[in-house]
Amino acid sequence: MQDSFSILLVDDDPTVIGVLGTILQEFGRLRFATSGPDALRMARQSVPDLILMDIEMPGMNGFDVCTAMKGMPLLMDVPIVFITSHEDDEHEVKGLALGAADFITKPPRASQVVARVRMHLRMKQMADALRNAAYQDGLTQIANRRQFEETLHREWLRAQRVGSPTALLMIDIDAFKKYNDHYGHPAGDRCLQAVAQALQQAVHRPADLVARYGGEEFTVLLPETDSCGARFLALHLLQAVAALNLPHARSPVAGHVTLSIGVSAFEEGPATLHAQGGVAHPPVASLLAAADQALYAAKEGGRCQGRYL
Ligand code: GH3
Ligand code: MG
Ligand code: MG
Ligand code: MG
Repeated sequence: MQDSFSILLVDDDPTVIGVLGTILQEFGRLRFATSGPDALRMARQSVPDLILMDIEMPGMNGFDVCTAMKGMPLLMDVPIVFITSHEDDEHEVKGLALGAADFITKPPRASQVVARVRMHLRMKQMADALRNAAYQDGLTQIANRRQFEETLHREWLRAQRVGSPTALLMIDIDAFKKYNDHYGHPAGDRCLQAVAQALQQAVHRPADLVARYGGEEFTVLLPETDSCGARFLALHLLQAVAALNLPHARSPVAGHVTLSIGVSAFEEGPATLHAQGGVAHPPVASLLAAADQALYAAKEGGRCQGRYL
C-alpha cells in the first residue's frame, strides 16, 4: 500500500473526532469537519481517499452529505464509512442504499477502525489503479483515446449549454514510418514517449487535455478556446517538439522529428442559429472532421506546420 492517504473525519462531536484522529494518524493526512456543509466544502477543495462520517448531525446529517457527494462526479467514487451509535438494520440498509461503503459503531474501537480503514484504502487504491489503466495510454502515460472521446463528448455538451468556444488539435508525427525503419521500433517508442511529454508540458490550462489518439497521432482538446488561441498553441507545440531536437536522419522536412497539426474551432459555441428560430447543434464529429481535414492540408502543404481551414 502507498504510505500516505488523505482521510476526512466528520462528526459534530469533537471528542469522537479526537479519538478517531489519534487512532488513524499513522495513515497520513487527516482533516476534520464538524458539520455536513463543512465536510462538502473540504472534500471539494481537495478530494480525500476516504471519508469517515457521523450520521446524526444537526442540520445536514450524514445521509444528506452522502447523497450530495454521490451526485457529484468529483466525489462520487470516494468511499464513505459511517460512524453510528445505531445498530439497527434500518439505518444500515438506508446507508448502503445511498452508496455508503461500510459502518463503524460508536464508541470507535481502535483495532476495528484500523482494520476497516486499511481495507477500504486498499480497495480504493485498486479501484483507482483500474480506472487509470482504462483511461491512460500504456506507452506514453498520457490520456488514451477513450478518455479523450468521453471528455470531448462532455465538453461538447457543456459548450452547447453555455455557448462557449471549443477547439481541437489533431497532431501527427511526420515521416514516422521512416523513423521506425531507420532507428528501430524501440527507438520509435521512446520518440513517442518524448513527444507525448513535450506536448503535455506545453499546455497550461487545467482543462486542456492531451491524448494519444492512436499510433503516432495525438489530440489536444481545448475547452473555452477560440481559433486564435488554438493556432497560437499549435505553433507553440510545433516549437516545443522541434526544441527536443530528436534526430531524424530520413525526415523529408528537417534533420529532427517534426509535427503536422490540424486545428479546428467552434467560436460561438457549437450552435448555429437558423432564420426560422431553431438552434441546430452540429455533431461532435464535425469538430474532429474539420481538424482531420486541416491536418491533411498541413501534410499536403509540406508537413512541419499547423493549418486552420
Ligand atoms: P506522414 O508524414 O504522412 O504522417 O508519414 P508517417 O510515416 O508518419 O505515417 P504513416 O501513417 O505511413 O506511418 C505511421 C507509422 O507509425 C507506422 C507505424 O509503424 C508507426 N507506429 C504506430 N504506432 C507505433 C508505436 O506504438 N510504436 C512505434 N515505434 N511506431 C508506431
Ligand atoms: Mg452526531
Ligand atoms: Mg498518422
Ligand atoms: Mg505520421
